[in-house]
Amino acid sequence: MDFADGQTFNKLAATVGMMPGVTHSLPLEIVALGGLGEFGMNLMVYRYGGDCLVVDAGMMFPGAEHLGVDVVVPNMEFLDEAGTIHAVLLTHGHEDHIGALPFLLARRDVPVYGSPYTLGLVRGRLAQHDLETTPRLLALPQHGTPLTLGPFTVTTLPVSHSIPQSAMLVIETPVGRIVHTADFKLDPYPLSGPGTDLSRLARLGEEGVLLLLSDSTNADLPGITAGERTVGPALDRAIAGVRGRVLVTTFSSNIHRLQQVIDAGIAHGRRVAIVGSSMEFHTDVACSLGLLRIPAGVLVGADAAMNLPAERALFLVTGSQGEPTSALARIAIDKHRDVVISEGDLVLHSARAIPGNDKTIGRMINHLLRRGVTVVTSKDAPIHVSGHPRGDELALLIHLLRPKFLLPIHGEYRQLAAHAAIGRSCGLAADRVLLADSGDLLALTEDDFTRAERVPVGQVFIDGALDRVDFTTLRDRRQIAGDGIVIAVVAVDRESSSVSRLTEITSRGFVHDASEEEILEEARDVVALSLAETSREERADEGLLKAKIQAGLRRFLRKRTQKRPLIIPVIVEL
Ligand SMILES: [Zn+2]
Ligand SMILES: [Zn+2]
Repeated sequence: MDFADGQTFNKLAATVGMMPGVTHSLPLEIVALGGLGEFGMNLMVYRYGGDCLVVDAGMMFPGAEHLGVDVVVPNMEFLDEAGTIHAVLLTHGHEDHIGALPFLLARRDVPVYGSPYTLGLVRGRLAQHDLETTPRLLALPQHGTPLTLGPFTVTTLPVSHSIPQSAMLVIETPVGRIVHTADFKLDPYPLSGPGTDLSRLARLGEEGVLLLLSDSTNADLPGITAGERTVGPALDRAIAGVRGRVLVTTFSSNIHRLQQVIDAGIAHGRRVAIVGSSMEFHTDVACSLGLLRIPAGVLVGADAAMNLPAERALFLVTGSQGEPTSALARIAIDKHRDVVISEGDLVLHSARAIPGNDKTIGRMINHLLRRGVTVVTSKDAPIHVSGHPRGDELALLIHLLRPKFLLPIHGEYRQLAAHAAIGRSCGLAADRVLLADSGDLLALTEDDFTRAERVPVGQVFIDGALDRVDFTTLRDRRQIAGDGIVIAVVAVDRESSSVSRLTEITSRGFVHDASEEEILEEARDVVALSLAETSREERADEGLLKAKIQAGLRRFLRKRTQKRPLIIPVIVEL
């Protein structure tokens, strides 16, 4: 079926759908506003006619090129016109699944469903925002208990992941059953909680699954991901016999990991201090829900821990990604208020580096090593395992569920492609496996799964003040950071529209040697020349005049210095 004109088709189909006795004539539309072809910003929309369901609303951590940007969220324009949004379902509490929620709720006031732990984290995040409406945060029903939302009926099943209370979604739609895994791993020996419900998955497979959307994060890695339980003994071995203080950093939301670190600390007679606001926040939420168990008398404040003999103290600290303001990054340069490290101390990096953060983590480790601290990362000892499934687990899931169609999600193109290859090797026909990008609107019927049209998607940059940073600002910041700034001041006589004052040219961060003065002198001549070439009309129009000066200077400076500084012409009218 050709959906070239999607709108017309939808209207037509909607009419047909209303006719009695005619069912399944409408395709289910599926579109990711983020998370396909990129890591992070996971946001999936399911739409049937005018009824929508949103799964997750995540952010992406900015890269080094996003100067002054703290958060990247998906462009959510599509949701404005998407019809009735019955709910946002949150699969778990990781930032790449909940971080964009405040921005979504600012656009559309819709109910949000999640597990108690997920909602606890969401509340903390929403508290930083000034929303006009009070968010409606609702607990997901027990696993297996149906929740009806418009034409959709959703049940959840528990999965193992690197954060407690993660859920896989089973969505019954008018065209058939969809299984949306979100993030998961199979981990047959989960530390606590029910783990991934394999028998339920097998039953679903027997009953029939139309479409499987599954986690591709580690699809390009062979084998299976080790269980969380394997980390405990490794932590234990690393800590055993250490005479100095022990500092451990990991993702604050990885409560199972925190539990194992605390247990290892207790086993070696250490008391534990929680350091860093994110670590305090996550442990508070987890303790209040009984997800983290710390015996009385174990926790101490950071300053009290510093007063203990070194071999009696363990610090759980933020900073697994080397973030400059995090506890460990500050400790590493002797700039932390409470915690001071010294020779003989041990730092355990029990996390992975989010792609792009390797350099900042590396710098932090350099500082630590320079101070005589021993640093152990997951490269040195098995003190970290991933929360995502590897290739063999993905294949097992496909065999259990036996879906008619497969859509790999969560990953860059290479992970999605690797996942698609796994699907084909499990016996799915090539045309049953779809490789899609964020913004591809896909149409699913009982027999077909195709790309229908494109919707607007992209990244929206947010700075620390929660304001939107537009692309031009970002480009300017990048230009200034790289090649500096050149300012040309031109005085124009309003009456005669003639240039009446010699141009002032100054620069910052542009060239730092003796040639600077010479270049700026030449630049002044270039501006004089472009001014001489302007017509009276151009001189009278500030915009045109600026453009002309900019173009002339840009050409000259690029040729003369191979640099592209930000050029700001300032017109002063006399
Ligand atoms: Zn996750
Ligand atoms: Zn994720």
